[in-house]
Amino acid sequence: RLVLGIESSCDESAAAVVADGRRVLSSVIASQIKDHAPFGGVVPELASRRHLENLAPTVMAALSEAGVTLDDITGVAVTQGPGLIGALLIGLNLAKALAWSRELPLVGVSHLEGHLAALSLAQEPPPYPFMALLVSGGHTSIFLVRAPGEQQELGSTVDDAAGEAFDKVAKLYGLGYPGGIIIDRMAAAGDPSVIQLPRPRMHDGTLDFSFSGLKSAVVRFREANQGEDYRMEDLCAGFQEAVVEVLVKKTLAAAQERGVGHLALAGGVAANQRLRAAMAEAAAREGLGVTLPPLALCTDNAAMIAAAGCHHLRAGRRMPLEADAISRLPKGGALPAEALA
Ligand code: ATP
Ligand code: MG
Ligand code: FE
Repeated sequence: RLVLGIESSCDESAAAVVADGRRVLSSVIASQIKDHAPFGGVVPELASRRHLENLAPTVMAALSEAGVTLDDITGVAVTQGPGLIGALLIGLNLAKALAWSRELPLVGVSHLEGHLAALSLAQEPPPYPFMALLVSGGHTSIFLVRAPGEQQELGSTVDDAAGEAFDKVAKLYGLGYPGGIIIDRMAAAGDPSVIQLPRPRMHDGTLDFSFSGLKSAVVRFREANQGEDYRMEDLCAGFQEAVVEVLVKKTLAAAQERGVGHLALAGGVAANQRLRAAMAEAAAREGLGVTLPPLALCTDNAAMIAAAGCHHLRAGRRMPLEADAISRLPKGGALPAEALA
C-alpha cells in the first residue's frame, strides 16, 4: 500500500508518500514562514495563495523523491480539518482531483489525528495504549490513544494553545517569528529560576490547561520592569519552564489516573528541547516508557496525514467527492462521522 498524503491546513504546503502506514518514502514541505514573518503571524489569504502555487509542485516532488509515479499510488489522504478554511480547500480540491482522475480511494484526515499518527512513524512507535500530549500552535490536549485512530481527549486548553503562548511572548518582545523555536534557543542560555512566572491550573485537579493568563503575566512583568536590567534569556527560560512544568505534570497525572505505562509527545511544541528533556526525566522517574518523535515528525508534515489516512483506508473509510473542509472540529479532535462515508 502506497498512500499519498496532502497537508495544507496552515502555512505548510506538504506532500508525502508512505508505505503501509509505516515507512516514509518521501516527505516534502514547502514552508511559508518567510512569507508570513513580516506580519508576525499567518495571514490566511496569503496562505491560500501560496498553497495554490506550491502544493501541486510539492506533490510532484514527493512522488519523484519517493521514486514512484501516480500509477504506483494506491490511496490518497488529505487533511480535511481543522485549519484555515481557504488553505484546507486548496489541499482538499487537489486531493479530490487526483483521486477522481486516477480512480483512487480518497480519505479525509483530522489534522490532530495526523499529529498523533506521526508517532507510529517513529523508529520505535509507542506501544498501545499510550498517553499523548498533543501540543501545537492551535491545540493543547491530552489524548488516551488505545489503538490506531482510536483516541479519547481527556483534557485540553480552555483558552490559548501552548504554541500560541510561545508565539505571543516572542511577538511581545519582538524576538521574531515563529516564536517557539526562538524562545527554545534563547532559554537554553538562560536560568529558569531568575524570573518566576505562574503555573496556571497546575493544581486544579483537572487535565485542562490555560495559557492566556501566563502570557498576561509576561505582559505585566514587562511593564513592571521597563528600564530594568534583566536578561531576555532568563525571561525565556522562566516562561518556558512554567509552560513545561504544567504540561509534564498533567500528562503524568493522566497516565497515572488511567494506569497507562507509556507517554508520548506530538505536535509542533513537541520539538521543544526543554519539554522533551522534562518529559523523559518524569517518565524515567516514574518508571514509564516515553516516545519523543524526531523533530521533523513533530511539526506539520504530510507523512503523518498519510499514516493516519492509511489506517482509515484499510478500515474502508472514504471521503465523498462532495465533502467539504471543516475549519473547526467538534471537541475531541476527530472528524465528525458524517464526514466519512
Ligand atoms: P495545529 O496543529 O494546532 O493546527 P499548527 O499546525 O500551526 O497548529 P504545528 O506546526 O504543529 O502547529 O506547530 C507550530 C507551533 O509549534 C508554533 O506555535 C511554534 O511556535 C511551535 N514550536 C515549534 N518549535 C518549537 C520549539 N522548539 N519550542 C516551542 N514551540 C515550538
Ligand atoms: Mg505551521
Ligand atoms: Fe499542526
